Amino acid sequence: MTDVADRATAGFRREFGAPPAGQWAAPGRVNLIGEHTDYNDGFVLPFALPLRTVAAADRQEGARWTVWSELSGETIDFGADEVDEPGRVAGWGAYVAGVVWALREAGHDVPGARLAITSDVPLGAGLSSSAALEAAVLTALVDLGGLDLPAERQPRLAQRAENHYVGAPTGIMDQSASIRCRDGHALFLDCRSEGVEHIPFDLRGAGLAMLVVDSHAPHRHADGEYAARRKSCEAGAERLGVPALRDVTVDQLDTALARLDDPETRRRVRHVVTEDQRVLDTVALLRAGRVREIGPLLTASHVSMRDDFEITVPEIDTAVEAALAAGALGARMTGGGFGGCVLALVEADAADPVADAVTAAYAEQGFRAPDHLTVLPAPGAVRLT
Ligand code: ADP
Ligand code: MG
Repeated sequence: MTDVADRATAGFRREFGAPPAGQWAAPGRVNLIGEHTDYNDGFVLPFALPLRTVAAADRQEGARWTVWSELSGETIDFGADEVDEPGRVAGWGAYVAGVVWALREAGHDVPGARLAITSDVPLGAGLSSSAALEAAVLTALVDLGGLDLPAERQPRLAQRAENHYVGAPTGIMDQSASIRCRDGHALFLDCRSEGVEHIPFDLRGAGLAMLVVDSHAPHRHADGEYAARRKSCEAGAERLGVPALRDVTVDQLDTALARLDDPETRRRVRHVVTEDQRVLDTVALLRAGRVREIGPLLTASHVSMRDDFEITVPEIDTAVEAALAAGALGARMTGGGFGGCVLALVEADAADPVADAVTAAYAEQGFRAPDHLTVLPAPGAVRLT
């Protein structure tokens, strides 16, 4: 298969009979640590993947948007009427129409455009192909129209597209990561202030790599379980008299837990409070250049998600255990849970043996073989040409 950017340009030429004015790329992401902390006003630490969605694009007359995606093979077309009210464009086009809608709603004069979209971010694997699509389209439209929308204000807008036009209740992490990440860095995001810091994450320099395993576990009841976790966290915060669980520190944890009579709420609260601290500890180690030492924090995060937050599934636990047994320095599920991907921090030359060990453990359990890739932290959204 040719490069994702070449395919976007070739697709644009074929669909629209002319070369594009430019190409914009936006990556998928994984969250290094900090799970279910976002809606508790806490901390997350994603980094961008070297897997990207590319929009080859040019302006067109009037308020019309014509979009081809390699993935569906279809071309959709919509005008101002369809974007002035959420819901009129459905399916994958909603992510594109949602960006146009959110820009217009914020008062921007969005240029009509033709776009050809290609991607090598797998869909629905928890690597955020949706934010990559939004970010590629958003940065293309901002540049084509010369819109006054600096990078720090773009994630909120892409999030609005997904929340209000597509109708998916996501936090700010995915869009922040796809738009704002930097090469060789993780993005430390405070979900309360929405402030970000770029934290050096030099895996290569430390002789390490990150293995990403797509568990292929079917998302069992993920929506209902997610809603239930949010409710437990809100109940816990209310009982403790704090605006959000972010406001409970690990020093206060024992006292806080003693005030909660429901054992399930206690476990949920303990996960969130300790997970926030693990993000802070990971950031401190990375700032000190002690990359290798974050392994135990990743594994502790997994144990907390498995035992306290109860959001892992057998495929995921099998992948984590097999990776650790094969010598990974740390491993954890990443993403909302009930499926998705596992991260394993490995010596650079151990990525293949660890991946093979996970595949063998899957075979033994009779699970469908997992996919995997080895990654280093990549840049956020950019104009390519
Ligand atoms: P994730 O973000 O974890 O990959 P989501 O369910 O949030 O999963 O988003 C996946 C959806 O995003 C797809 O079902 C599709 O509608 C849309 N999508 C993402 N990338 C593309 C693309 N390149 N072309 C068309 N649609 C895409
Ligand atoms: Mg998504």
